[in-house]
Amino acid sequence: MTVGDDDLEERIERALVRSRWKSYDPVLRGLFESRTERADIGFLHRGVRAAVACFISFGLFDLWLFPDIGLSSATTRILLGLAILAFVEFLVWRQVGLQLVNSACAIGLFVAAAVWSEIARHTAYQDAFALFLVFGTVFVVSSSLFFRFRFATSAACSSAITFLLCGVAATTDVSFGTKLVLIAYFLTFLWFALYLSWQLSFERYATFLNETRARINEKAARDNGRQLARIANTDHLTKLRNRRAMVEAYSEYRERWNSDGRTIGVLLIDVDHFKAFNDRHGHQAGDRCLISVGSALDAAAERHDAIVGRYGGEEFIAFSHVEDEDALLRLAEDMRKSIEALEVQHSERSDGMGIVTVSIGASVTRSGVVPDLERISSEADRALYFAKAEGRNRTHRFDPSVPESLHRDHEITELLARAVSDGLASLVYQPIVAADTGRLCAVEALMRLRTDEGVSISPASFIPVAERTGLIGELGRWVLRRACTDILVAGVADRVSVNVSGVQLRAPGFPMYVARLLAELGLQPSTLALEITESVDIALDAHILDVVGSLKALGVQIWLDDFGTGYAGLRWLQMITFDVVKVDRCFLRRADSQDGQNFLQDVLHLLRNRDVCVLVEGVETDGELALVRSAGADLIQGYHTGRPQPSNSLVAIAHHRSGGSA
Ligand code: C2E
Ligand code: CA
Ligand code: CA
Repeated sequence: MTVGDDDLEERIERALVRSRWKSYDPVLRGLFESRTERADIGFLHRGVRAAVACFISFGLFDLWLFPDIGLSSATTRILLGLAILAFVEFLVWRQVGLQLVNSACAIGLFVAAAVWSEIARHTAYQDAFALFLVFGTVFVVSSSLFFRFRFATSAACSSAITFLLCGVAATTDVSFGTKLVLIAYFLTFLWFALYLSWQLSFERYATFLNETRARINEKAARDNGRQLARIANTDHLTKLRNRRAMVEAYSEYRERWNSDGRTIGVLLIDVDHFKAFNDRHGHQAGDRCLISVGSALDAAAERHDAIVGRYGGEEFIAFSHVEDEDALLRLAEDMRKSIEALEVQHSERSDGMGIVTVSIGASVTRSGVVPDLERISSEADRALYFAKAEGRNRTHRFDPSVPESLHRDHEITELLARAVSDGLASLVYQPIVAADTGRLCAVEALMRLRTDEGVSISPASFIPVAERTGLIGELGRWVLRRACTDILVAGVADRVSVNVSGVQLRAPGFPMYVARLLAELGLQPSTLALEITESVDIALDAHILDVVGSLKALGVQIWLDDFGTGYAGLRWLQMITFDVVKVDRCFLRRADSQDGQNFLQDVLHLLRNRDVCVLVEGVETDGELALVRSAGADLIQGYHTGRPQPSNSLVAIAHHRSGGSA
């Protein structure tokens, strides 16, 4: 019968408070007997040897006290003792149950007592015999206390021996008084022996109960502890290891690395466009998506003897001991493909890929570099950033030869992603004035970005990152709307020019966005100018030419920015009719020599011949202003006429300039 721990504990509680006279609980009793059986048999086994040795050695008393029957009595002791010992040895060897060994020993005791007294009581030395009979209580002590019989056996055996002794005492040839004293002594002795035996067996049983209860409690505590540890180390959603468990697991990998230098590979796995998925399909679908991604990753990890856990949000981390980096990349590819194979639909991706995918950053421990988890996971994180920048759904391995500065992109990306929502992005405007009259003709919108701590980051740093990561799309739309509202809707200037990058032009629907925006704000399309920088190689990109064509058809002005910094400028002039060409400020910087001045004049001459409106950037001094005026520039822009500034401080300039002074 199997009993649960709860039931057992209840029975033990009841048994411990129950009065000693009440019957034992059969379940506990059975358990007690089965638990103590082996030890008790061992005890009996050793006890029988000692008892037989004692029984035989008492033969010396027989020889001394009873010269008539001493020899036969002593011989009987030897034969009988050895026979009993042999029988018990046989039973133990046969591995019979405790009950049988118990009974054999009890019967052996009684037989030994009976046979000896039967021989000895015929001695002529009756006084000595009566006195020696007192030693018979040794048998009683043996049966009730020494052998640790079960109480019933010990009570039956001690009583039988006591009555035998009483009988023998009654038939000895001594005075009535002596007989009476002997019998009274035997009975009293029996009473005490039984009481002690009962007490002892109860104590043993109570000890067993307490021990069992302690064991159950300990086991329960251990189970609780294990369960708590499991909860603390498991991600509640995916049931994978959580971050904490992964950190712990890594220390084992690290130990192995310490002992045999085995390479550790770390993968950071990020679900692509997960936020958009959540926004479109809801959090429950998002959770389901993470669960299936988690289990697919886990299955892949198992195939490669790796472990995977959820690192937080939509990010997972995997470790493996690998032969080399290629082995790690194979694991990564297996993971990436198994997520693809799930074919979880994701219609909201801006890149048109209709299913859920993952990007993976991989890094391995290298000799000479301490493999801290923090270090290697941040390497994998940087690699992950590149995997995303390269277009997602791919694996990128960390390359230690790539300079740290590139990794700074990573922080900028994070900042750009929340720049608009967290108010970290802003716009400043730089006046563009007529070269002859100084009238404010337009303002150029320039983006600014600052960190949470207020440190500003140069556009030269963040614009390329925004372009690489595709974040320029969303930011660019924000800039357009903001610039139109700040300048045109507010009536600060007649025109605003906004920089657009090649990435923006290539994105589908850009002209449509511009058209809708202008219509929504009720603006004339010609009040908006888009600056395209010469470094975008649109000559090779028929699509961009189409886009520029659509924008021009819409009525929006198209300006060529940074003219003269690249090689494509002149070719562009043939392909697109620009409304304004902005001559890069590097020409003015070189104009401190006569040669430089001539060069600037040549460039302007060339442009004017093509009949385009020429703007010279970077005018900082009176001398430069005079120079560009004489060279025939139509428009000027630079610190001399105004630094980039917030739209509200531009209002004053606008009023001042509208007076017409130059
Ligand atoms: P850009 O379009 O050539 O903008 C002119 C840059 O020259 C601005 O730098 C402006 O502050 C600076 N500048 C103006 N006058 C002077 C002058 O007299 N002397 C000197 N030394 N510099 C002058 P900024 O604001 O750092 O912008 C750098 C570049 O970042 C811009 O070059 C533009 O290509 C890009 N950028 C800025 N905002 C945006 C944007 O909203 N979208 C895109 N796609 N690119 C932007
Ligand atoms: Ca510009
Ligand atoms: Ca420029």
